[in-house]
Amino acid sequence: MGSSSVTPPVAQRLYYDQDSALEFQAVVTGLGHGAPGMGQDGREEQRWLLALDRTAFYPAGGGQPWDTGVLKAAAASETPFQTVVERVEEDEAGEVWHTVREPVPVGSHVVGRVDAERRMDHAQQHTGQHLLSAMFLRELGLPTLSFHLGADSATIDLPAEKIAEEDLRRVEEAVNRVIFEDRRVRPHWVEREEAERMLQQGKLRKLPERSGRMRIVEMEGVEFNACGGTHVRSTGAIGGLLVRRLEKVRQGQRVEFCCGLRAVRAAGRDYARMRELGALLSVGPAEMASRAAGLIEDKKQRAKEIKLLQKQLREMESRLGAASQEGSAKG
Ligand SMILES: [Zn+2]
Repeated sequence: MGSSSVTPPVAQRLYYDQDSALEFQAVVTGLGHGAPGMGQDGREEQRWLLALDRTAFYPAGGGQPWDTGVLKAAAASETPFQTVVERVEEDEAGEVWHTVREPVPVGSHVVGRVDAERRMDHAQQHTGQHLLSAMFLRELGLPTLSFHLGADSATIDLPAEKIAEEDLRRVEEAVNRVIFEDRRVRPHWVEREEAERMLQQGKLRKLPERSGRMRIVEMEGVEFNACGGTHVRSTGAIGGLLVRRLEKVRQGQRVEFCCGLRAVRAAGRDYARMRELGALLSVGPAEMASRAAGLIEDKKQRAKEIKLLQKQLREMESRLGAASQEGSAKG
């Protein structure tokens, strides 16, 4: 990242502690130029990069997007200001850079506030993914190859040619049972040797290549997972998981899913579409498929009839044409 300032020390990550508050105090330790962003008038605007001595903002990583929020002047600051945090990323040295709209001088005391709704949504989808992956492994022996969390959908990729509908529903139910059981989700810090022991014992499925202390997230009675992401504090807060669809991809099957309010909203949208369709077809949800199949069959039948009638018409026309030619030849 293009920082032009002195190299600051790496920020203390407050988001590692899952019970930490989303509002925090910090000191600006680095300031640099960011890539231009879009202003309200649609024109390009200068952006700035800030490093802090401590931060609760999660930078993009592990398939999880960054937190957003605001930074404002702390009471100790001389100049009052407030700036939006649009993007948060980690550089190769492990420093966290906050993309903001206004420059804030190094040494400034600031208060940061993370957008709670966005954080909760990401933590729900991400913790839901841990659980979904664990249940695919337990129920069908399928390990997760990759994970993606976007603004609209979350997916995992599994090494399977096909997944039967009933298997998919069994995994989905197993996931939701663990959600109802409201099991604790908590991070532990362990040394690399301890993590390797856990790997050998089969408690951990894989380990990142990093050396030093490691953050292992435990989902009580379900799994241990080496992960630096943000999670909800217990499985109940995932709020429910809905598997949306399966898609064939190069490395196997892609499973799209959603958790929490995303699941509620997705179900609501589906119902609204179904109601619209039901009104058109004049039937309830249970009869929609058979009514639609009937209409399609009907359409095919009509097409056949039209073809037959057209054929008869052409034959009749050619017979008439022949008869009139014969008549004119006689006359
Ligand atoms: Zn995680």
